[in-house]
Amino acid sequence: MGTTANKQSLTIGLIPGDGIGVEVIPAAKEAILALGSDVPRPEFVDLVAGFECFTRHGTALPDETVRVLEEECDCAIFGAVSSPSRKVVGYSSPIVDLRKRLDLYANVRPVTSVATDPNQKPDVDLVVVRENTECLYVKQEELKYTENGKEARATRLITERASRRIGQMAFDIAKGRPRKHVTIIHKSNVLSVTDGLFRETVREIPTLAQFTGKYDDVEIAEQIVDSAVYRYLFREPQIYDVMVAPNLYGDILSDAAAALVGSLGLVPSVNAGDKFIMGEPVHGSAPDILGLNIANPLASIRSAALMLRFLGYVKGADRIDRAVDDVVREGVVLTPDLGGKGKTTEVVEAVLKKI
Ligand code: ATP
Ligand code: MG
Repeated sequence: MGTTANKQSLTIGLIPGDGIGVEVIPAAKEAILALGSDVPRPEFVDLVAGFECFTRHGTALPDETVRVLEEECDCAIFGAVSSPSRKVVGYSSPIVDLRKRLDLYANVRPVTSVATDPNQKPDVDLVVVRENTECLYVKQEELKYTENGKEARATRLITERASRRIGQMAFDIAKGRPRKHVTIIHKSNVLSVTDGLFRETVREIPTLAQFTGKYDDVEIAEQIVDSAVYRYLFREPQIYDVMVAPNLYGDILSDAAAALVGSLGLVPSVNAGDKFIMGEPVHGSAPDILGLNIANPLASIRSAALMLRFLGYVKGADRIDRAVDDVVREGVVLTPDLGGKGKTTEVVEAVLKKI
């Protein structure tokens, strides 16, 4: 993180994907361009992936797309993919494959409400850091036919290595935030081996770094996932700063947290590894509103800001985030998901003007 900030130029892959991805990803590009010299000479490369790409080219993630990302790009912004409702032979989600091939082991999703008064602290201001490579998502499932009927099993993989690197990412993010607080989310009261390993590994990170004192100022807490949701997330989300969780809990928590701030159309994310950062709005391809020019572009724009923040361009990221906050707070030009009558293009214009 923060390794690119001294470069002369920044090459950004744009992968709109399917559905409203095509309508909102250009907004991310324009927001970055509006920053002028806060980002060194941004250059954009258009790349394809997704279900439409699959129906045209027979692959949802062309090798050429991966090659260009690996060899030519510093980072990327991904729109959305539509997932077919039935299983389609030969199709697998390009976002899942991209995370694997670029080793984007963390999914980082800040969920922040917009304070009505710009001098006030937002009510909800948390970050979900989700492990992205293992847990039940190793997809080793089997179905057996027994005397008593069908029996299905799945393997849940938790490794020390993956738990340590996601834990470190969570501590690094917390270190850069005012509250400097990490909550480990687990269920080790029931799954004492797998969740136990996750919990212990994340817990010992400050001790391992003791020598450097790197995380001495970061506070650490832990919660069982169900009570984290019931007792706190929905009732007292203010207690959270950074939440770190294994893949499945992280998936559910991050969607639940997104609900706290209203629309999916507001929530950004990045897929992060040690070598590559990919911004991605949290929403899907939203076929129900496709082509109506009412998709909320703010999640995409904020994903661009978050990506820049991870790369070390904090000033540019702050400028974009402030512009988005102002537009939401003023409430004059908003898309219907936020109760407005505005069009996608009008919201983009309003944000660009603020930047
Ligand atoms: P997918 O299978 O690609 O996830 P989906 O049908 O689940 O598609 P989502 O994109 O996940 O659709 O969206 C869920 C709901 O939220 C839809 O009703 C959609 O219209 C709405 N929504 C999602 N993103 C936005 C956005 N950017 N602006 C406005 N509404 C949105
Ligand atoms: Mg969806």
